[in-house]
Amino acid sequence: MNMKKQYIDGAWVTSKAGAVRDIINPYNQEIIAKVTEGDESDTKDAIAAARKAFDRGDWSATPATERGKIVHKIADFIERDREELAELESLDTGKTVEESRGDMDDIAGVFRYYAEMADKDGGEIIDSPIPNSISKVVREPVGVCGQITPWNYPLLQASWKLAPALAAGNTLIMKPSEITPLTSIKVFELMEEAGVPSGVANLVLGPGNSVGAELSVSDDVDLISFTGGIATGKKIMQAASSNVKKLALELGGKNPNVVFADANFETAVDQAMNAVFFHAGQICSAGTRLIVEESIHDEFVEALADRVGKIRLGSGFDESTQMGPLISQEHLDKVVDYVEKGKQEGATVAVGGERPDDPELQDGFFYLPTILTNCATDMSVVQNEGFGPVITVEKFSTEEEAVKLANDSIYGLSGGVFTNDITKAERCVANMRMGTVWINEFNLYFPHAPWGGFKQSGIGRELGKPGLEEYQETKHIFQNLKPEPLHWF
Ligand code: NAD
Repeated sequence: MNMKKQYIDGAWVTSKAGAVRDIINPYNQEIIAKVTEGDESDTKDAIAAARKAFDRGDWSATPATERGKIVHKIADFIERDREELAELESLDTGKTVEESRGDMDDIAGVFRYYAEMADKDGGEIIDSPIPNSISKVVREPVGVCGQITPWNYPLLQASWKLAPALAAGNTLIMKPSEITPLTSIKVFELMEEAGVPSGVANLVLGPGNSVGAELSVSDDVDLISFTGGIATGKKIMQAASSNVKKLALELGGKNPNVVFADANFETAVDQAMNAVFFHAGQICSAGTRLIVEESIHDEFVEALADRVGKIRLGSGFDESTQMGPLISQEHLDKVVDYVEKGKQEGATVAVGGERPDDPELQDGFFYLPTILTNCATDMSVVQNEGFGPVITVEKFSTEEEAVKLANDSIYGLSGGVFTNDITKAERCVANMRMGTVWINEFNLYFPHAPWGGFKQSGIGRELGKPGLEEYQETKHIFQNLKPEPLHWF
């Protein structure tokens, strides 16, 4: 098995210390790849390469239209290699290939969106209050960007960072999750093929506490963009204070899905499943906190449990599979503990609540799709992000109560409201403290709309125009057209 390498200063290299990591298929625990495992020293090399490339100025000085063309080429190559990338993502994460194909389409779309945007906003002339002057605002790249991604949507999360950073003229060092680096490695090959110059985009493979920590603390990194858990986000925030880096954090969520009695029943049941069970619930925006109006609660839970109990588990490569395994043994253990704690606190298992007993699934990190009822807002299962295929259900009787429950969280990433009363829906979403709120929909996103969290779900936005602006500094240039002495002193 060929060992996969890191990409530093335009060369594919092994780590200096020579460490190697096995990459495991979560469906059967087979080794699917061996990758070089970098550390602080490799990270310093990559930062130096990115710094040198930025300070040379070639990439930032490349006309934005030309940068856009290169980013378009990356999108072309992702479309060309869609099937290979989708299969690689599914091998590495366990999600169904059908889901991964959808991810690849979204990823190509993100590169296209920022390719188009690269030369659309060079700045603006603003009205100066000073006579005989010109005042203009220009946007410039931030500089050297550290980018750290999680394992749940490896290449999707990477694309949200790579595409705007390149379009805006930055140089970068990416550190994918150490357990799911394969599609990120492949996309760096595609970026090389597309003509991204040496040193502009660097890839370091390795753990968070060495590679990620070095990126976060280094004085030569100007911005750190992180997607992952809240505890890691806090550490990164502290480390980033070393040189007051710009910071973008996309953290977790325990996202409410509010269903009113007047909603279309069948649609709301169906969407309550879509809200959670893609990729076995390992989605930051998963609607795992179901809040249902009391008058339909029992009927709703019964209909939902009936359908959830029929979700087919298996290999992501089997076309009949609807849900794959969790990412790792460590994560499976966390989900098991999370549900057990919920049971101890008084939650009732309506369906699932354990590992499947199917002999064919014993080598994989599977957990049954689960619904926990009788949940109350102060339970740990309601407050904490389980990051697994688990829905907690609460009841409400008034609109005010529904909104209060939805907001009772340290998180504020996403939420949904299902009702046929559009005025009521608008009233609710106006009061829901989340970065994305869906009405009669859940988990939909596209490159044009900004993504990010209120409260402890993060800082800043990815996607949309704000997703480009994260990678830009704003400079005001004032020109005096009639310079003469002031004679003040
Ligand atoms: P994680 O925080 O454990 O790891 C994320 C990344 O951070 C990995 O690359 C890891 O190696 C690195 N890391 C770990 N310790 C570090 C340190 N001390 N310094 C720097 N980097 C470090 O998260 P995870 O388990 O990979 O991902 C799951 C989490 O990601 C969930 O909480 C989920 O909600 C969140 N997430 C959020 C979004 C979003 O858009 N808001 C999207 C996807 C995932």
